[in-house]
Amino acid sequence: MARTVLVTGGNRGIGLAIAQAFAKQGDRVAVTYRSGEAPEGLFGVRCDVTDAESVDAAFTTVEAELGPVEVLVANAGITDDTLIMRMSEEQFARVLDTNLTGSFRVAKRASTKMLRGRWGRMIFISSVVGLSGGAGQVNYAASKAGLVGVARSITRELGTRNITANVVAPGFIDTDMTAGLPEERRAEIRKSIPAGRMATPDEVAGVVTWLASDAAGYVTGAVIPVDGGLGMGH
Ligand code: NDP
Repeated sequence: MARTVLVTGGNRGIGLAIAQAFAKQGDRVAVTYRSGEAPEGLFGVRCDVTDAESVDAAFTTVEAELGPVEVLVANAGITDDTLIMRMSEEQFARVLDTNLTGSFRVAKRASTKMLRGRWGRMIFISSVVGLSGGAGQVNYAASKAGLVGVARSITRELGTRNITANVVAPGFIDTDMTAGLPEERRAEIRKSIPAGRMATPDEVAGVVTWLASDAAGYVTGAVIPVDGGLGMGH
């Protein structure tokens, strides 16, 4: 059955791969983009997840064009790495506002219609770093760990209404976010991953579409790693 799907930050990287995977299986897909252009072939709405009004306007547009959002993928995210002693409060707050509060904003906006429809899937894109921590990533790791609390609380609040909320925790994925790493660091990373390689965005997308499927209807409040074994033991 075709569903209405909204992917935040779906104009590039992991979000784009997720949106394309849903589109390929016949769902009605909308993506939010903050800068640049909407990706070709997908319904795009401009949205900054740090702004509740912008989130509301994006949902209103999607609802008018494609119907209420039944599958929400909270994917938009940023990094702003530096060691804690150098990290400004502004740097900490900005990353939290995008990654954690931004996900809260879209989940809150989606929840009313999911409740009314008595069906919904929320998928939060976290990171292996949320549970393992990362040097220079106090802000990012805190934001990604916070998503676990968000998803599990939603699971407790809305679980009886056929609404699931899960967290996907990718390891190192080949996107713009990791492209900036020097080759030496990339080689080190590859060595630390049991699978011996980074993943493609499609490998994250496959898990996300599965979580939204009927087959995963009883999977909720889960944290699913897609990390080649990097985070084993959490
Ligand atoms: P990219 O940097 O390639 O893309 C980030 C996306 O988020 C872009 O679409 C960007 O929009 C959007 N975005 C950022 N800030 C906002 C905002 N305030 N409002 C709306 N959209 C915003 O990242 P990836 O594809 O690599 O990452 C996607 C998600 O996966 C992130 O949450 C990231 O933390 C997570 N992740 C990534 C990993 C990796 O190795 N790449 C590993 C683990 C987790 P715009 O194009 O306008 O900037």
